[in-house]
Amino acid sequence: MAFNPVIFDLQPSDKNEKEGLYQYIATFSDQSKCRLFLTKKPDWKLAHANRLLNIPCPMCRKDYYCKCMEKHLPAIEAEFLQKIEE
Ligand SMILES: [Zn+2]
Repeated sequence: MAFNPVIFDLQPSDKNEKEGLYQYIATFSDQSKCRLFLTKKPDWKLAHANRLLNIPCPMCRKDYYCKCMEKHLPAIEAEFLQKIEE
């Protein structure tokens, strides 16, 4: 299913500057939330995106863990980069 991730809100969650590891909680425009695992060495790279189970998955509609977000890492990363520069 098509998924157009638009990050509506982005909150820093955890970071390890020495290792260049960062976590953010992203809220998408459909209210789904995701924990983003990023590295910054020195460019941002999105390593993982774990959907938080606040609402069913916007793609497969499961309310349990699924892998959908992992298929959209490039789009989520692009959206993150746009958001982090604001
Ligand atoms: Zn899914």
